[in-house]
Amino acid sequence: MSRIAYVNGRYLPAREANVNVEDRGYQFADGVYEVCEVRSGKLVDAPRHLARLQRSLRELRITQPMPLTALEVVLHETVRRNRVDYGLVYLQITRGVARRDHAFPQAAVRPSVVVTAKNLSYDKNQETAKKGIAVITTPENRWPRVDIKSVSLLPNVLAKQAARERGANEAWFVDTDGFVTEGSSSNAWIVTADGRVVTRMVDNHILSGITRAVLLEVIEALQLRLEERPFTVAEAQAAAEAFVTSASQLVMPVVKIDERTVGDGKPGSVSQRLREEFHRFAHLS
Ligand code: PMP
Repeated sequence: MSRIAYVNGRYLPAREANVNVEDRGYQFADGVYEVCEVRSGKLVDAPRHLARLQRSLRELRITQPMPLTALEVVLHETVRRNRVDYGLVYLQITRGVARRDHAFPQAAVRPSVVVTAKNLSYDKNQETAKKGIAVITTPENRWPRVDIKSVSLLPNVLAKQAARERGANEAWFVDTDGFVTEGSSSNAWIVTADGRVVTRMVDNHILSGITRAVLLEVIEALQLRLEERPFTVAEAQAAAEAFVTSASQLVMPVVKIDERTVGDGKPGSVSQRLREEFHRFAHLS
């Protein structure tokens, strides 16, 4: 089946789905995006993703191209046309097309909207979670506004590639004080020996993950103890458990950080429980 992409009001076969060479997303990475998990053909936590999108647009002063309800319709329709049962839907909005000039276009331009969707293997994701993943650490080299979900992802791309070349699945950025900020495409968590769940507080130095936000509700409902504070690489390596969260990986246990094994080298019980409980709290629409 050929894939279908939504581009500026039209649903097109992927090979015909093109954007202008002077799109500011292409030229300056001047745009924002969202990735939403799809389950049973439904969107997971769409209202939260759309609220975050709206915030990203506002922070970058990109005009919102259509109401959120209309965007949600496009997300659903792209999922439907691609027959995605389990997978991801991707939404990107750029400032639009204009003759190349760093400053914003002087005349108002229409933002460009692209939506794509793809099927993933749920079983494969589960298999990975059973074994857990390895992460590497790398110096934080991103701008101090990574709370904006911008498509400018070069440091994240290089970090993920470095992880892959070292046989790991994710890279954790580490700030100049030695604290982990977050992963190249996920939020970072540890579980202490006495069962406290720790993740960095939300500020300009991490993306406020939707999976993270939902998991905070799970943690509260399960009456686990939570600490929102920074942690060092050494603390993570010595922790009982570690895991990452993202829409595509949900709660993914981490069993190795650089060359050190976490816990007994197997996914921990708290991480596994949080993974299992997650979908009871996620909103489907
Ligand atoms: N941090 C970064 C840098 C990310 O790219 C992602 C994935 N979008 C996350 C955290 C996790 O966010 P979410 O749970 O909303 O997918």
